[in-house]
Amino acid sequence: MSAAQRQRTCAACGGPFEPGERTDLETVMAGGILYVAVHPHHSTHPPRREADIAERLAADTAA
Ligand SMILES: [Zn+2]
Repeated sequence: MSAAQRQRTCAACGGPFEPGERTDLETVMAGGILYVAVHPHHSTHPPRREADIAERLAADTAA
């Protein structure tokens, strides 16, 4: 049984998978390597957005 069939929902957004929908697998380190199913282009590890980085830099400068 695939991760998608086991999960039924996307590990990233929580939305249900449609029958036959293509899914991507992602590895999660949680006391071992887990494989979770996500929608294509969804990720449980979203890249940090530039705005977040800019905000952090501004906060560091102000401190
Ligand atoms: Zn999703």
